Amino acid sequence: MQTIERRHLLSPGARIGGEWIAGETRFAVRDPSNGAVIAEVADLGADAARNAVDAAARALPTWRRSPANERSRLIEAWAGALLEAREDLARLLTWEQGKPLRQARDELSQGAASLRWFAEENRRAQGHTLPVNNAGVRNLTIKQPVGVVTAITPWNFPAAAVLVKCGAAMAAGCTVVLKPSEFTPLIALAVARLAAEVGIPAGVLNVVTCSSAGAVGEVLTTEPRVQMVSFTGSTQVGKAIMGKAAGGVKKVALELGGNAPFIVFEDADLAQAADAAIGARFYNSGQICIGANRFFVQDSIYERFVSELAARVARLRLGSGFEPDTDVGPLINEQAVAKVASLVDEARSQGARAVVGGQRAARGGLFYEPTVLRDVTPAMALYRTEIFGPVAPVYRFSSEDEVIARANETDAGLSAYVYTSQVGRLWRMSEELEAGMVGANTTSICAPEVPFGGIKHSGLGREGGPGCLDEYLEVKSICFGL
Ligand code: NAP
Repeated sequence: MQTIERRHLLSPGARIGGEWIAGETRFAVRDPSNGAVIAEVADLGADAARNAVDAAARALPTWRRSPANERSRLIEAWAGALLEAREDLARLLTWEQGKPLRQARDELSQGAASLRWFAEENRRAQGHTLPVNNAGVRNLTIKQPVGVVTAITPWNFPAAAVLVKCGAAMAAGCTVVLKPSEFTPLIALAVARLAAEVGIPAGVLNVVTCSSAGAVGEVLTTEPRVQMVSFTGSTQVGKAIMGKAAGGVKKVALELGGNAPFIVFEDADLAQAADAAIGARFYNSGQICIGANRFFVQDSIYERFVSELAARVARLRLGSGFEPDTDVGPLINEQAVAKVASLVDEARSQGARAVVGGQRAARGGLFYEPTVLRDVTPAMALYRTEIFGPVAPVYRFSSEDEVIARANETDAGLSAYVYTSQVGRLWRMSEELEAGMVGANTTSICAPEVPFGGIKHSGLGREGGPGCLDEYLEVKSICFGL
């Protein structure tokens, strides 16, 4: 049985306007490593969602008018509180999500770093004074918060997604209603509790938990007082949310699914590429939107790369996130395991070969063996599908033009990775790959200072980077007649 020291952070109540709501009904949150119930959380519906929007709307006038440096001070204090409680929060995150504890710690540190970045960017959210053509008029712009924002977040990075959305919106002067994933509400509630403890006023951050997103989601995407919907999750749900928000001409920010190519040319440093491939595919058990989903390896080095990769994958240790040596934890639920198993089974039935893994793990439950598949082809479903599991399919290519065409033949456009020792090729590939983010001889593409987001069906807008608060700000022109 796991536990955390700061027991009050393991809170089952939703947060609406400064109240902790127990709810009349509850749903169970389970440890994916063994199925045990961790806690039962308030299972709220449309009325609670409307109450949360009320609370956010009531808190908005005071919060949006508060001095920018005061909001930044509170966001920085929130970051400090997160770091102080990092070990407990990381344990909670591993407990309900399954990832190795060291990855949970990293996620919290990254989340806190993002909050600090938003607090800093908030001090730089300037407008402009503008040159004019009309002698009798002077023009300037100011930036103002969008208003009430709803944030809908997934389970795979359930702390980072919450902090990145809510932190940026709140720093900009917006108030927020957050709906975390039904699989990972506990970490969202814990970080909301810390926000309250550092003095972020009631109603600025509200959290509505529910076991079925439909009714709550409907309110959060259509309520007239909601000005913006910020969503991270699957492309399918993102499209539906965009459709709902369109009815109210709401702003939308969408961080959706990926199908990243990971391209290795024959002139690449093979060991470097194989090392990087491990993180790019097996971090968080492969449940990562920017994860390498399709490995493209040039013909002449195909055999060598497959054996370098397989040797590394064979050493990965499968286990509960709390076991100190674990590299790869469980998947989030049975549906996720079944999807991965069916993609691999189908590929094998069409001629793919598993060099390592290729099946559910012997320890049972939600564990799937870290897998390398060779002799895969673009005709197989896993070529077009975000696998979201610990499976690395390795495709062949012969020329630069061919691999560019292959890499881009997907609706997704989130991230892409390329390994080569030719500088000119790195430039060409970086320009030609259709993705919001390119890792050129690196997979380290995430930092608060770097814009994060996709093109094509992978999303709209950017999180992080210079000017990132603009997502949550409107530009107003003011024209002064002299
Ligand atoms: P998901 O099924 O789309 O769910 C995401 C969130 O939307 C959850 O809170 C979910 O609630 C909620 N939701 C589901 N149906 C809804 C509806 N009709 N109205 C309103 N909300 C609704 O995605 P997921 O399985 O949690 O996350 C995995 C996906 O997220 C992958 O595709 C991954 O690539 C993507 N992702 C993208 C990024 C990025 O930055 N681009 C980052 C992380 C993840 P319930 O959980 O309660 O169903």
